[in-house]
Amino acid sequence: MAIVISGKELAKNKKMKMKEEVEAYSSLYGRFPHLAVVLVGEDPGSMSYVSGKEKACSEIGILNTTIRKESTISENELLEIIHTLNSDDRVDGILVQLPLPGHIHTESIIQAIRKDKDVDGFHKENVASLYLKQPGIISCTPKGIIELLDSIEYPIEGKRACVLGRSNIVGMPVSKLLLDRNATVTICHSKTKNLASITKEADILVAAIGKPKFVTADMVKDGAVVIDVGVNRDIDTNKLCGDVDFEQVKTKAEYITKVPGGVGPMTICCLMENTIECFLKHVKE
Ligand code: NAP
Repeated sequence: MAIVISGKELAKNKKMKMKEEVEAYSSLYGRFPHLAVVLVGEDPGSMSYVSGKEKACSEIGILNTTIRKESTISENELLEIIHTLNSDDRVDGILVQLPLPGHIHTESIIQAIRKDKDVDGFHKENVASLYLKQPGIISCTPKGIIELLDSIEYPIEGKRACVLGRSNIVGMPVSKLLLDRNATVTICHSKTKNLASITKEADILVAAIGKPKFVTADMVKDGAVVIDVGVNRDIDTNKLCGDVDFEQVKTKAEYITKVPGGVGPMTICCLMENTIECFLKHVKE
């Protein structure tokens, strides 16, 4: 039976350490880190993600400003908000909660955020830094996944990793991070043929496709580490569930993450880490 890697526990411990560090910042640097979050509209999922970020900030002692705007806001008005936050020396991190309403060009908004305040790591210069192995801000979910593997001291080097999904937010960056740790990585997508024949070979299986309970026991190698990124609603129970059929796969895997309580808390934890990194860069400049 698999050991559950608890992102919730790991995030809790990391946040406690961050809190201790942040407490000293006021006397060391004269202020605390500050994260600005922009929330457009009233999408329930986005509102819940934003309140999770507010809660984490207050637990650690990071200042948080959430700017709430109606979904009718124009792209120019939103850009104006970003420009103001970019030039505000007391703001270290800027995050625009996605998705944005259809009339707003998401890419233009992301690229407008100053790259040294882009705590989500979505700005093209931060994405490029990841691929060029240069210093930059690494996006939170991929970073959190690697931290989960490191928390069990899993020897990534030389292992076969299979990543299901090739999005710019999860699949591609986590594949690059695994490659940088010397895993041999196969990236699968919706056009991949004989998917199970590939997943069954993987020592590390990362599922990031957004399909409830898609990964079944017959797709998993005995003793694999299975990281479930998906956030879905179970069709039968309407409860949150991942891309992995947890009850089935836990009998095959050696380690597994659960939804909720796995990757999600680590994403928020890494957002806090990124905010602190940006703050330290700003105060030391
Ligand atoms: P996305 O942009 O929709 O990408 C989904 C990927 O899955 C695509 O690359 C797609 O392939 C692939 N895919 C779809 N059906 C497939 C299938 N049957 N077999 C193999 N691959 C398939 O999604 P995302 O933003 O990466 O997010 C993925 C999931 O992770 C979602 O459930 C999302 O809510 C969750 N998520 C969680 C966190 C967290 O913090 N826990 C953070 C981000 C995302 P194609 O490229 O061929 O279309």
